[in-house]
Order: sequence, then structure tokens, then C-alpha cells
Amino acid sequence: MGWAEIIHARPALPAALGAEVEPYPYLSGFGLVHRVTRLATPLPSQVTSTLGFRNRQVTDVLLATQRPTQARSTFLRRLHLQDTNMAAYWSPEQWSPVQTGDLFERRPRPLRQCPQCAAHGYHCALFQLPSITHCPWHRQPLEHTCPRCDAPYHARFDDKARLGVCTCGYDPFDPVVASVHMWDFPTDKAQAWLEDYSAWAQRRRVCRWICVPANCTEWDQGFAALAAPPTRLQRIDTGPPAAIEVFSGPGADPAPRHFWGWSCWGGERPLTLAPLPATMYPLLCEATKAVVEALPPESRTPFELVDANALEASATLRENVFLRPDCFIKPRDQSGSAMWLNLSTVDAHIAAFCGHLLDQATAHLGPSGSALASYSLQAARSAAMDQIRGRGHLAHALAKILTQAYIYGLHADLGAKLDASIPRAAWPILEMVGDSGRLRAARLNWIEQKSAAAPARVERRGERPASRPLLL
Ligand SMILES: [Zn+2]
Ligand SMILES: [Zn+2]
Repeated sequence: MGWAEIIHARPALPAALGAEVEPYPYLSGFGLVHRVTRLATPLPSQVTSTLGFRNRQVTDVLLATQRPTQARSTFLRRLHLQDTNMAAYWSPEQWSPVQTGDLFERRPRPLRQCPQCAAHGYHCALFQLPSITHCPWHRQPLEHTCPRCDAPYHARFDDKARLGVCTCGYDPFDPVVASVHMWDFPTDKAQAWLEDYSAWAQRRRVCRWICVPANCTEWDQGFAALAAPPTRLQRIDTGPPAAIEVFSGPGADPAPRHFWGWSCWGGERPLTLAPLPATMYPLLCEATKAVVEALPPESRTPFELVDANALEASATLRENVFLRPDCFIKPRDQSGSAMWLNLSTVDAHIAAFCGHLLDQATAHLGPSGSALASYSLQAARSAAMDQIRGRGHLAHALAKILTQAYIYGLHADLGAKLDASIPRAAWPILEMVGDSGRLRAARLNWIEQKSAAAPARVERRGERPASRPLLL
């Protein structure tokens, strides 16, 4: 469907100044509100309430227009554009090559715009994707902070009911360009590029989705790495390619019940003692040794750890760990393929993310829910995972994510006790690729956490597991 067809049902004469949509292919909801309110006569404040934005000082116009809200339908009706198909292109997901779930709706995000397009009041929801770094037709970097004062752009009206004006006064909108010169916009070039890109993104989106830890707000870089368009579509040198670890290829899937241990992750209660596949045990022992070997060789054994982990107080930490590399994970109670390990150093949010990944995999690729309705959550997850071909890719990705999270946690824990430097932790962002019961690949990218704040940690609780694993 081309732009002309999408806006076919528009009125012959625009209902308001700024509501001319022909020159502006795939104009976003924000762009339309921006143009109409900035070109409006009489008072912009009257216009915003007429258009349905009643609480205009708190309304994030991007959020309010990217999903079917009441404000959005009122606004479309007032402009007599309700019968066009424009609004279908107002959500960033419509432009994303991966399914994003609620990612773009979790919280308001800064507005990203091209200064040359912004002179027209033009904005496309595509610009909100962190994977798009430059305006495709002006080749200018997209900005999400003010070039004059560096404040983040936001999509709210200011106290004079204007959109797109920074508090410092910077305002890329030009009313003459946006009205008299609107046909100078590179309409054909923009439309051709957008339709080419959109066909690519739609093809990919069908069988790909991205998973981001729930409280991770700095996922832009991970999204940009995993959802980058091919060079054909973004011929701009943007530095070295991001490191993406791909789990794919042939290889036998793990035996049934491999995910049994993982399946109780991400529930309401954070886990201190958690069941895991026994294959995690050697990985975490190796990780422990690597962390301790990165510390100065003469590092003492922190006295707080001596009793809790039954270590030798007079020996160095390295000597203790050499003899007992499992001293921090305290393995116990192997039942079937699951082994209970102490994971109190693992960031609670990343632990929850591991459970979330299972839910994502089973929701997209698992059997329909009704067959497993009578099972407990853990049993249902485990049984559903067993029916997905290619689940080994997820098993490998989970092992990698957990090992890395354990390393970050142990570094932080030992570093704090020994006054050693603590490397920054990172967030895992995972893309899954699959269709009809088969996971074809998992692609993992890590983004460094910007804030130096200590990660949320699981409190050390009693050492006994609250409940034993139930058998199916
Ligand atoms: Zn532009
Ligand atoms: Zn500013």
C-alpha cells in the first residue's frame, strides 16, 4: 500500500492549516500534531484542547498517538482524517524489524528528529527506532537532545502550548518552510526509501522478537545493534559493528526437562537458592576462578565470607577458590537434571529476565496454552519448552547470560569487600528468531550499564530452599 492509497480518504481541503499530508509520506502522529498546532491560528492553546489533548502539559504526544487512545481518535476526527490509514504507521513497532512487545510504551522516550525535517514539522515514527541513526534522505544525524543546551527533547507541550520548543528557546520549526515551502520537502525520495525499508522490516519482523530486562531503560544501543538495517538502506559509517553472539546451527536439543530448573525463574519471589541444569555447575566454577584470578594474587579471604562459605581464614582467596571453586555457589540437592545452587550474587533483574525469556519463547513458539492449563507455572513452562525444536539455542543463551550475570555479581561482591575496582555490569538484550514451533537462532548483545549504582541484589535469606522442586 503506497502513501497515496493510505491517505486516500482524506478531505479534499485540509481541515486545518498544517494538516496537509500529501507532501509528508508516513508523517507520524507527533508530526501531524506538531504541524497543526504550530501553524495554528488562533491561539495554540485553544487548538490543543479542540484537538483532544486536554491535559496537554503532561501528555506525551508520542505515547498518546502511537497507540489507539481516545486523544488520538478525537484528533483524527477533528482533522477529518479518521478514515485514512495514516495512524497504522504511528507506532515505532510498525517500522521495527523485530517485534517489540511493550518496549516503546513502557515509559516516555525522548523525541528523535532530523533538524531539516523538523523545520517542516515532519517526523516519522521510524525516527524513534534507535537503529536509525541518520535521516535517510537528509543524511543528517537524528538528534534526541537540544544542540544548544543538550537537554533531552521531549514530546510534550510547553507552557505556551507549543510542541518542539526547547526550554532554552531552541526551535528548529520554521513556519514559512512548513507552509509556503512544504512542497520543497523531498517527498519522492523519502517515500521511496520508506517503502523500501518498510518492506524489509516487515519481512523480518514476522519471525523475530526482542527481549529486554523489565527495568532496563538504556536498551537503545542493544536495539540498534540487533535491529540494524542492511548497509543498502543506511549507507552511513557508524563505527565498528556491534558484538553480537549468535546461538544457532545444528546440534541436538537438550533432553526433556532440561528447562525444569530454569522454569521457576522470574516468579514473584527472587531466588537465592535456585535450581539449574547440572551443566551450569562447571561453568560457574570456572567463572569463580576467573573472577578471583583477576584480583591481586595476595588478596586475603574476606572475613565475612569465611564462616558463611566455610573457607580457610589464613589462606588467600585464590588458595581457597583453587581448592573449592564452588564455594560461593554451594551446590546441593541434585534432583534429576536440576541442581540447587546459591545465586545470591546474581542481579535479581537479570534472574527475572531468564524466566521472562522462557515465557517469550513459549508464547511465540510453544504449544497453545489450553493443553497445559492444569499444570503449575513451572511445569507448564518446562513442558512447553520441551516441545520447541531448536530450544538448545536458548539453553546456550541462558547459560551465557547467567554466567555473565554471576561474574558481574561476584566481581561487585568481592570488589566491595576487598576495596578492589569493580567493572561495570551490562544488560543482556536478546533477539529470538523462529517460526512454527522452531527456534532458529538467538542473538545476544550486552550493553554497558551507564549508572554506577549497585545492581539490585537478592538478599541473602535462609540457606534452605523454601520448597523442593515438584515432580511432574
Ligand atoms: Zn531529514
Ligand atoms: Zn535547549
